[in-house]
Amino acid sequence: MTLLYQDRRFLNHETGAHPERSARIRGLDERFQASRLEAKCRRVEWDEVSRKRLSRVHSLAYADEIWAMAKSGGGDMDADTVVSPDSYGVAMLAAGSVIDATERIVRGEDTQALCLVRPPGHHALMNRAMGFCLFNNVALGAVTAIDELEVDRVLIVDWDVHHGNGTQHTFWEDPRVGFFSIHRFPFYPGTGHEDETGGGRGAGTVKNLPVEFGIERADYLALFGDALDKFAAHMKPDLIFISAGFDAHHADPVGSLGLETEDFATLTNIVLDTAATHAAGRVISVLEGGYNPPVLADCLETHLATMAKRTGT
Ligand SMILES: [Zn+2]
Repeated sequence: MTLLYQDRRFLNHETGAHPERSARIRGLDERFQASRLEAKCRRVEWDEVSRKRLSRVHSLAYADEIWAMAKSGGGDMDADTVVSPDSYGVAMLAAGSVIDATERIVRGEDTQALCLVRPPGHHALMNRAMGFCLFNNVALGAVTAIDELEVDRVLIVDWDVHHGNGTQHTFWEDPRVGFFSIHRFPFYPGTGHEDETGGGRGAGTVKNLPVEFGIERADYLALFGDALDKFAAHMKPDLIFISAGFDAHHADPVGSLGLETEDFATLTNIVLDTAATHAAGRVISVLEGGYNPPVLADCLETHLATMAKRTGT
């Protein structure tokens, strides 16, 4: 089975006329039921992240800023990032889902999880919201695995069309967490050059694959597969996270890198193969971008179906 993290409360992060809006994930339940994917998943309940755990990635002063803005009725954390009255709790719930998935997967309850969260996380920095992101969900999962659950090495694979600058920054000097990103470049947020490879004891644990607008799909997929093979052999991860953005799809209004829906099955299979080789199949996928709701629903169905096929259900 694949552990599935979905909650109606994720709709309560209200962003108005914004690409990152609740319509992105509305109706996925019905979709998974209609396609019988529901039967191949196990839904679990979980809690918001604790402040102690949150403080491993974010300053509590920053968390309090979000709380205060939410409590006062909401506002803008930065040019792109909105907070509404429920956003603090929703963001704590999103981060909590990835931590719960990490605990369950490391304990051996299952080998795969998919967290369909809002808001996304991979741009969020220690004390700064960025690019629609408040808390770095995937980073919080990775740091929990390493610091609490005695996992030796973790790999984060980020195929969102944007570079995951927040995740890279969090683990820049950490030799235990590898960060692998393929992204459009030059593009928001401006980081992710191939020369960025980690620093200090973390030197060599960051791999960036910047790709230009117009790259052929086959070239993109081959580049991703070859580079991930080599990087995973170098990192030898015990657990893999996916920062799963679907905004590299050709019909995405924000990213539009030219991928087709079926290409996300290919990407998923490449990561699952990598996990089978190094990490006993353990993969936790966390939703990041994807801003064309019907296309995102197609992509998520493809992604989840590809995962579920591996568990033999
Ligand atoms: Zn993105």
